[in-house]
Amino acid sequence: MSVQPDRAAWFEGGDAECDHPPAASSRPFRVVLLGPPGVGKGTQAELLCKSLGTCHLSTGDVFRAAVAQGTPVGLEVQQYLDTGELVPDEIVIRVVDEHFAAGGPLEDGFILDGFPRTLVQAEELEQVLTDHPLDLVLNIEVPTDTILHRIAGRRVCVNCGASYHITNRPRVDWTCDVCGGQVVQRDDDTEEAVATRLEVYDRQTVPIIDFYANLGKLVVVDGVGGGDEVQERLVKEIDGRFDPTRR
Ligand code: AMP
Repeated sequence: MSVQPDRAAWFEGGDAECDHPPAASSRPFRVVLLGPPGVGKGTQAELLCKSLGTCHLSTGDVFRAAVAQGTPVGLEVQQYLDTGELVPDEIVIRVVDEHFAAGGPLEDGFILDGFPRTLVQAEELEQVLTDHPLDLVLNIEVPTDTILHRIAGRRVCVNCGASYHITNRPRVDWTCDVCGGQVVQRDDDTEEAVATRLEVYDRQTVPIIDFYANLGKLVVVDGVGGGDEVQERLVKEIDGRFDPTRR
């Protein structure tokens, strides 16, 4: 399937622009969204970027874009995406480091979704962010049966990435309300790949919850309910913790 072009574009570094560049006067937010597949990280990250005026980086989007474009990285990572396994740390870190090296996101802030996913990646991120430390890690929690229901019915726009569900369809057939793109099931939302992704999450990503708790950066947010409700909870946590005068 195709990609969310602008969500991946930020990651192209250099002159690439994010969807919601921060206003010059606003403070930068450096936030990680954690949670299992299907918990709504992508949707919530998009909403947060709009309200905070910051950039959204989804490594999943970046890899899907690379696969769709048939780039060398795309060829390296395709097998992992297809099966729901994690892309090896050295590839992920190489790609992320290259783009952080462009500088802008460090200064201007970001919301990371889907990275870090292993302890090695979390430790690497701490290194990269030595002079621009993370503000907060928001861990979105949802029961597994809710996740399975969400993923089984999830449909996404191949063009802009807008997310739908078989119980919340676009207005016209499977044509995206936002951009008119085709709305389809993600290749890795199949039952088999989802089972692998959840198992991989428990084994490789859950340990970083403790890592961030020990750094005093972790906040747990209830992800049950409508997108707007969850967004309100996230914004409340952010508002309660940020010093608005810090730049
Ligand atoms: P996502 O859209 O975040 O669910 O990511 C889709 C797929 O991309 C995952 O199942 C992995 O194969 C790969 N992927 C994305 N981010 C990472 C990461 N930080 N580390 C390893 N693999 C990743």
